[in-house]
Amino acid sequence: MSKPKFAMYWAASCGGCEIAVLNIHEKILDVDANFEVVFWPVAMDAKYADVEKMKDGEITLCLWNGGIRNDENEHIAHLLRKKSKILVAFGSCACEGCIPGLANFTPIQEVIDTAFTTVSTENPDNLRPQPHYQMPEGEITIPTLYPLLRTLDQVVDVDYYMPGCPPESHQIAAVIDVVIAALQGKADLPPKGATIGAGNSTVCDECERTRNVKTIKEFKRIQLGKVDPDLCLLEQGIPCNGPATRSGCNARCPSAGAQCIGCYGPAEGVVDYGARLISAFASVIDSDDPQEIDRILDGLVDPAGQFYRFNLAGSLLRGSKQAHTSGD
Ligand code: SF4
Ligand code: SF4
Repeated sequence: MSKPKFAMYWAASCGGCEIAVLNIHEKILDVDANFEVVFWPVAMDAKYADVEKMKDGEITLCLWNGGIRNDENEHIAHLLRKKSKILVAFGSCACEGCIPGLANFTPIQEVIDTAFTTVSTENPDNLRPQPHYQMPEGEITIPTLYPLLRTLDQVVDVDYYMPGCPPESHQIAAVIDVVIAALQGKADLPPKGATIGAGNSTVCDECERTRNVKTIKEFKRIQLGKVDPDLCLLEQGIPCNGPATRSGCNARCPSAGAQCIGCYGPAEGVVDYGARLISAFASVIDSDDPQEIDRILDGLVDPAGQFYRFNLAGSLLRGSKQAHTSGD
């Protein structure tokens, strides 16, 4: 009997999700034992034409990492959706846009100009990428960038979401175990639309730091000054995103002495991550005086990055007004 088929694809992302899959160590042998890997461009030579020839639903499990930044990403998202029984938005970029989605603050022409005119770019003729270019041998085409990066579920129907930048390897291994058990009839798959490989509470709920101060008079950078190793970082004025962030990483960053920056995305039930975090930060500010509140908030040196670093594309905002209209 043939094995279930496995695919993994990399759209607008950094590649860390692919490394995280390889980082499951010997569990990767279970993937090989239980699946036939039919499409995984970063790991094997496979062509889009091979996927196009497959029957609809022929791929049992497809892990998709990356946002939809260009027309190639969008075309392959539709293709793999059609060919896959289970499509997983794998990692923060696919789920909510992540770092590539921060470009949604900027009009697309400015993004391109920045990439092609920075001091480290040698471009004496001030060239820009041409989607179509006629050569003696024929026409060359490259993907066309869209004005806004979109999350996978803003383009196609998604079965499951697996957050993290990247997802923790122990969580990937656990999800693979569940899928294999389900394929063998020994377990049920989670309901469609579920977030898998993560918890249902917040990073604060997993964090072992003590909370007892409750209010602050300033925000400060973790690099500057002394940090109590046991006390909640937010209660020391260090902007920690734990209150709004989904659990699942075992509070990895606060345990190691760094603030959570939110890579597991919005906690269960949170509609807009930035809005929830703004409300959490506001609740610890100890002042009723507008001028003092302004001074305290000035301590947040990068509000856009603080509140929307991983989830701008998936937020209610999705991007700046200028970026929204830059493709018109
Ligand atoms: S705010 Fe940060 S440091 Fe404080 S309890 Fe939550 S995760 Fe831990
Ligand atoms: S503590 Fe926050 S930033 Fe660090 S791994 Fe967990 S969710 Fe990501």
